[in-house]
Amino acid sequence: MNLILFGPPAAGKGTQAKRLVTERGLVQLSTGDMLRAATASGSALGQRVQAIMDAGDLVSDDIVIALIDEHLTAAEDAGGAIFDGFPRTLAQAESLDAMLKSRGEKIDRVVRLKVDDAMLLERIGKRFAEAGRADDNPETFKVRLAAYNRQTAPLLPYYQGQGKLIEVDGMGDIASVAAEIDVALASLTV
Ligand code: AMP
Repeated sequence: MNLILFGPPAAGKGTQAKRLVTERGLVQLSTGDMLRAATASGSALGQRVQAIMDAGDLVSDDIVIALIDEHLTAAEDAGGAIFDGFPRTLAQAESLDAMLKSRGEKIDRVVRLKVDDAMLLERIGKRFAEAGRADDNPETFKVRLAAYNRQTAPLLPYYQGQGKLIEVDGMGDIASVAAEIDVALASLTV
């Protein structure tokens, strides 16, 4: 089963992805985590993307597509992937469809976590205080949210058109959002 967890930054995608990994044995593919690992290691890739991430802008499509491509075999072996923070542009979504198709696979569901801006700001404030991630500061977060609204939210009609989009209320606590996701996935027999 291949799922996309879709939503703005701080919607809870990472938290819910980790739970699905534990419960369903799928592989979480978070391009944000991969890019942070690259910057932490000081690799050439990390050095290329650091300033873009610090500014809250999107890293180029070719970089994140290549990162995902590197992990698809492992995901396939595990029985599927949970894509978290990818795709974020139409070019990424089309590449993902093509990469999966060439493996005889597809996206089965796109779970959109719906959270309003006030709640996102509250969550990001807490996360910034607790984890101290530089791009969670209020000013950079505004840039990230704008990038989501401008470049990523337009993917919703793409997946709606494919009949794969499920909307879940992401405003509740972790357990209630998890329960809603489970209901949404219950009909899935892959
Ligand atoms: P995230 O942890 O998913 O919020 O990602 C943190 C940052 O990594 C983003 O603000 C972008 O700069 C970069 N990033 C992560 N995933 C992508 C993606 N799919 N496309 C472009 N940039 C990304």
